[in-house]
Amino acid sequence: MKAAVVPAVSSSWQIKDVPQPQLGPGQVLVKMQASGICYTDVHQTLGHLPGPFPRILGHEPVGEIVAVAPDVTTRKIGDRVGSAWIQATCGRCEWCQRGRKMFCPYMKGTGGDAQGGHAEYMPMNADATYLIPDNVSYEQAAPIFCAGYTVYSGLRWADPQPHERVAVLGIGGLGHLAIQYAKAAGFETIAVSHSPDKDKMIRGLGADEIVRDGKGLAAAGGADVILSTSNSTKSMVDSIQGLHPDGRLVTMGADAEPLSISLMDLIAKRIQIIGSQQNGPEYLYEALDYVALGKVKAIVETYPLAEAAKAYQRVAEGKARFRAVLTM
Ligand SMILES: [Zn+2]
Ligand SMILES: [Zn+2]
Repeated sequence: MKAAVVPAVSSSWQIKDVPQPQLGPGQVLVKMQASGICYTDVHQTLGHLPGPFPRILGHEPVGEIVAVAPDVTTRKIGDRVGSAWIQATCGRCEWCQRGRKMFCPYMKGTGGDAQGGHAEYMPMNADATYLIPDNVSYEQAAPIFCAGYTVYSGLRWADPQPHERVAVLGIGGLGHLAIQYAKAAGFETIAVSHSPDKDKMIRGLGADEIVRDGKGLAAAGGADVILSTSNSTKSMVDSIQGLHPDGRLVTMGADAEPLSISLMDLIAKRIQIIGSQQNGPEYLYEALDYVALGKVKAIVETYPLAEAAKAYQRVAEGKARFRAVLTM
């Protein structure tokens, strides 16, 4: 089969012929239809995250099941499925037993220890697959398995209350979905965006206001929840100026720089800094359902698998509007 392979740390992606994956116990073979490129793919390519090389990345994989292992009873040939970041866990540690698989020290990640989706076929563990609602296209579904799942989980984790205001910091692959989820959930939503060239698109996503920074956010009335999808700790710290007392800064984007904030702000305003990831499958279910209901729509640039290297460059340079998705 053809696959986009990263041969070594920091090398460019190459389309190669590799052996078609064999099914192990509990697995299904998925004929890939679409696979989103996340900024985490850039971190992985540059070796910022552990993992073997050569490797096939892609943790927003969606497609159709074409084979199932004999012991699989929950999935069948023809099912439209996707898989998120967690591919397998030990099932025996405290965190697996508590149902918080994301903390399992033996977790195997999709496109990390396990093969990812930038290929014609991918083996998925049946219990790591999720059914895609019938009326959601593969191109629309793919970005929800990381970007949509992550930001919707962050919104739910911040637990916004009626009348609270939500700001979204950083309008890209994650942020453009965060604005739509916050609006769909009924909150007044403010975009914090440095780039005026995106303003028209941001208004189209449903943002009630657009501001440039934390000072602008404060001037516009502030926010109770800031969903930070930015990779810049500088922007995160700056945005705190616009956070209300008892506000929550939810961080979802990573930077090598430590987050250095004023303890006076933290104490006097009783604010909370919350780390968030993909906080559990019920949030993925809801995130996909909002797309099925027509309330959230991923804005994607699609590229055939053969152009994976070009698509990757767009993501690495921050030029994708807003999610680059490979199609097979
Ligand atoms: Zn991701
Ligand atoms: Zn475990």
